Amino acid sequence: MKKSQPTRMCIACRSRHPQNTLIRLKLSGKDVVVYDGQGRSFYLCDDCAKNEKKVKGLVKRFKQDKERFIKLLKELLNDG
Ligand SMILES: [Zn+2]
Repeated sequence: MKKSQPTRMCIACRSRHPQNTLIRLKLSGKDVVVYDGQGRSFYLCDDCAKNEKKVKGLVKRFKQDKERFIKLLKELLNDG
């Protein structure tokens, strides 16, 4: 029997992916941070996290410090 995986929508490309393949983030005050179990979270897919254009769009959308945001994504991608 095949269990269907829960899917979530990536906020950048708006396509659905299995939840366990997505990066889960949240907004803490003004900063986007890794989701820690509290507050409202959102998801970003690996492809978008690696896509410079999409990342730039998110930096603007959430008014993030670009360097810090890119560093955060890189760390998350390296985590596997
Ligand atoms: Zn995406």
